[in-house]
Amino acid sequence: MTIRWIDRVKAIPSAPPQVWTVMISAGHSDTQPGVVANGFREADIVLEFRQLVSAELCELGIKHLLDGEPHENLPLSQAVDIAKRCDIAVEFHTDSASPRASGSWTLSHAPNKPLGAKLARMTADTLGIENRGARPENAGHHHRLAFVSDGGGIIHELFFLTNPHDLAAYMQHKQVLAGEIAGVLATAARKP
Ligand SMILES: [Zn+2]
Repeated sequence: MTIRWIDRVKAIPSAPPQVWTVMISAGHSDTQPGVVANGFREADIVLEFRQLVSAELCELGIKHLLDGEPHENLPLSQAVDIAKRCDIAVEFHTDSASPRASGSWTLSHAPNKPLGAKLARMTADTLGIENRGARPENAGHHHRLAFVSDGGGIIHELFFLTNPHDLAAYMQHKQVLAGEIAGVLATAARKP
């Protein structure tokens, strides 16, 4: 596996320098689709979203790593290896439950909860869905995922794919959301 920094980023002379390394990851993989609901596969949605956020990070002057080439979503074990090398690592997912369950939230170890809380709040506000906040590693379906336990990263459940209203809000606002999430990550990456 070759790991390539996305480093063709805009120079932003007025901004403080980037002091922390950043990785963004798409949950699941090309061979494991995750949740399938309402005509969509989780792995496809989060791969597209990873690329939208990557483009916005470039606009904001933030170098970063991805879990694969632009159209590739590597398996979790490889994503974890990349996450381990970075100070800030976020993996995007969509959640599943009953059709009425709604909202955005994160899973992480305690030191990452302040950043997780910002990501969940920004997503909930942008999509107009419930803010479920920053939760500990063992809080949800993904509690066994090594991205948090071994990679030291943040799992971000963007919304519930099983909820048609959440999905429609995401489809309407995903581009704006990508910009907002990149902004949160850029601020965190520049904070000494
Ligand atoms: Zn997932």
